[in-house]
Amino acid sequence: MSDRPLLEVRHLSKSFPSRSGFFNQRLTHFKAVDDVSFEVPRGKTLGLVGESGSGKTTIGKCVIRLIEPSDGSILFDGDDITHLSRQEMQRRRSAIQMIYQSPAASLNGRMTVGQIVAEPLWVHEGLRGRAAQQRVLELLDTVGLKEEHYYRFPHEFSGGQQQRIGIARALAVRPRLLVLDEPTSALDVSVQAQVLNLLHTLQDEFELTYIFISHDLGVVRYLCDQVALLYLGKIVEIADVDTIFENPKHPYTQALISAIPEPDPDDVREEIILRGDVTLARPERGCPFAPRCQAAKLEVCDAVEPPLKLLENGHHVACHLHRPEVP
Ligand code: SF4
Repeated sequence: MSDRPLLEVRHLSKSFPSRSGFFNQRLTHFKAVDDVSFEVPRGKTLGLVGESGSGKTTIGKCVIRLIEPSDGSILFDGDDITHLSRQEMQRRRSAIQMIYQSPAASLNGRMTVGQIVAEPLWVHEGLRGRAAQQRVLELLDTVGLKEEHYYRFPHEFSGGQQQRIGIARALAVRPRLLVLDEPTSALDVSVQAQVLNLLHTLQDEFELTYIFISHDLGVVRYLCDQVALLYLGKIVEIADVDTIFENPKHPYTQALISAIPEPDPDDVREEIILRGDVTLARPERGCPFAPRCQAAKLEVCDAVEPPLKLLENGHHVACHLHRPEVP
């Protein structure tokens, strides 16, 4: 197996046109993702974490080429897929699949479970009839569903079961990378744990690589090997999961971690309350997080945007409070 990461994202940016000013006359461009780079090694999971509007889902959609990046490049298994045509991308589509936040919305309510899971087999492998049915039944078994579910419709299932159907459909084409967009956020806590366990098992069984998009750092800790914190379209901190939880450096990461409920009632942790929310206007200069930052701010914070710097062992932080240990 190659040592090269399965996915390499280099300086990815994505802008959307927006109108502002009197009578919406002025056309501007809003940067949803701004110069984001990361790698995902084979068989590993990268968590993309941030509040709504942080750009995490836009990154996921760029990776599977649902939307076109404005700048930067995306390499999958060493091949640059950034500018592949629709037809070329269609041929590779089976290798990169997405699981959506709302399973009900992503399943066609007029199709049976058997038809939903079989559809990608028809499209990508030309598999029909008994062979397709056999494969669908195997997939249902893999995700913990039963043979009797084959002829039922999505509305007859709970949210957790619907998510299992979505996972079976994604697995049908033997993907190598799954982009999981908040796959458990619409589920009850007990069901969340079951789906996370399933994803964990499937990763080992099929050597899958995951991008796990979430606003919930608690969930991320369970599944991810590496975590990137996003704020207003930029990575503000990225490191392996233990470093993020045991030694967070960015004030935004520290605040999100402080808000995770602590299971041990004796372990009292002071929550850092963030000012305002992510919709606060981005300052024209300086650190984008400055309007909400509770840390001891420096004069430079309002003047210069902090670059993402390597502190040590793959731990990168964009904050003026921290300087690289090795110059
Ligand atoms: Fe806060 Fe300054 Fe660090 Fe930005 S650079 S997060 S304003 S301390």
